[in-house]
Amino acid sequence: MTYPNTQLFIAGQWQDAAEGKTLAVFNPATGKEIGRVAHATKVDLDRALDAAQKGFEAWRDMPAAERAKTMRRAAALMRERAESIAAIMVQEQGKPLAEAKVETMASADIIEWFADESLRVYGRIVPSRNLKATQMVLKDPVGPVAAFTPWNFPINQVVRKLAAALGAGCSILVKAPEETPASPAELIRAFADAGVPAGTVGLVYGDPAEISSYLIPHPIIRKVTFTGSTPVGKQLAALAGKHMKRVTMELGGHAPVIVAEDADLELAIKIGSGAKFRNAGQVCISPTRYLVHESIRADFVAAFAKYAQGLKVGDGLTAGTQMGPLANPRRITAMADLMADAVQQGATLVTGGERIGTEGNFFQPTVLNDVPLSARIVNEEPFGPVAAIRGFEKIEDAIAEANRLPFGLAGYAFTSSLKNAHLLAQRLEVGMLWINQAAAPAAELPFGGLKDSGYGSEGGPEAIEAHLNTRLVSIMNV
Ligand code: NAD
Repeated sequence: MTYPNTQLFIAGQWQDAAEGKTLAVFNPATGKEIGRVAHATKVDLDRALDAAQKGFEAWRDMPAAERAKTMRRAAALMRERAESIAAIMVQEQGKPLAEAKVETMASADIIEWFADESLRVYGRIVPSRNLKATQMVLKDPVGPVAAFTPWNFPINQVVRKLAAALGAGCSILVKAPEETPASPAELIRAFADAGVPAGTVGLVYGDPAEISSYLIPHPIIRKVTFTGSTPVGKQLAALAGKHMKRVTMELGGHAPVIVAEDADLELAIKIGSGAKFRNAGQVCISPTRYLVHESIRADFVAAFAKYAQGLKVGDGLTAGTQMGPLANPRRITAMADLMADAVQQGATLVTGGERIGTEGNFFQPTVLNDVPLSARIVNEEPFGPVAAIRGFEKIEDAIAEANRLPFGLAGYAFTSSLKNAHLLAQRLEVGMLWINQAAAPAAELPFGGLKDSGYGSEGGPEAIEAHLNTRLVSIMNV
């Protein structure tokens, strides 16, 4: 299986970093180096910024219908190349091949939805109080965007930002993850091959802090969009605020799953357990705090543990693998620390809790029960294959517990009562709530959080609106 080295994409050209620096890329299933990625420095960033400005002007000045055609060509290329791109993603990120294929194919859907939506960026005419004046509200692209994306969904995290920015008529300079660089580069390649003007799309890698602290204040950049942890998001949002830049922040979560007394238990177990271990739990909307009514908790825990024990953990390229390794050794350390703390504080380890082997970053699918509220795992985002279960007697108590944390990204609930569903819909402080179903975050739906989980949306018309200026022009007939 081949794995490519990754270059920078600046001004329509694939190129090495000006200073020739590179970083190693590792396969999380083996721990071995599989390739290198170019490491940009200031010279590269200056060229990429200059190109982003020129690329913005060229893209903005194309008719929306032409832009949409180019985007659809990129979507078609992603579909054509999905097999080989998915295999690249597995080698650098670890997820099972089937999940990598779904992510790659989904990127084409996302691009197409934003291509269609880009044709509906309308302004409006507002009737004037003076009949000689025509008052127009215009929507213009905000300008070049700087995007910072993480390693858990190497393509999905880029395509949501890229498709919304291009759909609005902006150019975009992506700082993609150094740990999983080659699959997002394939997404950029699809746009390059589809014929976006030079500079409309740019791609750099390097030292994340160095790059963000240079790009965000830079006058060419007009909008900042970031996905990652809450502490980093707060730093970047503060910097963007200081320089009056538009911002979208998609940050950490700690999704509650409320299983009410009247839930369809089989459904709750099937969806709740299946969703937990997708991408080894390294998902910002991963279900994490399971709050289960006491009358059904024992059955829920037993079935959940059985499912976790039956999962086939292994290299994502091996047929039949259901859960791959964690993406980097930091996650193994984080899991081990969270486990030790939970057990020491009195949680019951029902199954899992250990690293698997010594090669690669494999960790057992884990279920904890009776987790005390003081345990770190029910306060910090675990970002790993761990379910933390607690009981409740009254639905109001479950809602209070769900809302206790500063996070507010996703939430899930299972109930057969309309009354409970209403109450949950009104009271749960989350940006996305799925009741009696798994998460289904399609391109046409808002995707974003509340509270410390960030602000803005990476889906739906809101995602395009976030890349538009609103201007008034009034013309007096004199
Ligand atoms: P981290 O906080 O160091 O990094 C998270 C992401 O932010 C990475 O992609 C990193 O490259 C980037 N980053 C870090 N500092 C930056 C800076 N100054 N400027 C620009 N980008 C910067 O943590 P990590 O070890 O990579 O991941 C750990 C935690 O991050 C997880 O526990 C999880 O909470 C969070 N995370 C969230 C998502 C998500 O989808 N919301 C994705 C990945 C990681």
